Amino acid sequence: MRKRRPTYRLAKIHRSYTVEDVARLFGTHKNTVRAWVKAGLPTCDSKRPVLILGRELAAYLQARRTKNKRPCKPGEIYCVRCRAPKQPAGNMADYTPITETFGNLEGICPDCDGMIYQRASVAKLPEIQGNLDITFAEAQRQVNESEQPIVNSDLA
Ligand SMILES: [Zn+2]
Repeated sequence: MRKRRPTYRLAKIHRSYTVEDVARLFGTHKNTVRAWVKAGLPTCDSKRPVLILGRELAAYLQARRTKNKRPCKPGEIYCVRCRAPKQPAGNMADYTPITETFGNLEGICPDCDGMIYQRASVAKLPEIQGNLDITFAEAQRQVNESEQPIVNSDLA
């Protein structure tokens, strides 16, 4: 079975679910659902078995999803392989401009040795930088030929 992130949209807001229902719905283990309850997923405590309102479930999972997407702190770049913000190895990153206002910040993940990237605008670099040692790559200047004046010497 493919491991998937629970999609809060699966929960129907007008239904209530038992722990088993939720586990089946998201293809997850009952203990995972119990962990959600422990972590703050509200239940209708007066009833046995414990019932979870679809509305609460959807809201809880949505909030959790947003929370998991924690933004990188200054000096960190998100590693897609580790699924976590990382401080690039040696605190070194290269900045490669894409346009005059933004570019790619690029480093090496200290845990998986993969390249980690982050889009960064020049204006925000001081904010993002943290204690990173940023090397600025040479701007790749494109010579736009159409900007050169057209000299038409044939006109008399
Ligand atoms: Zn990594």
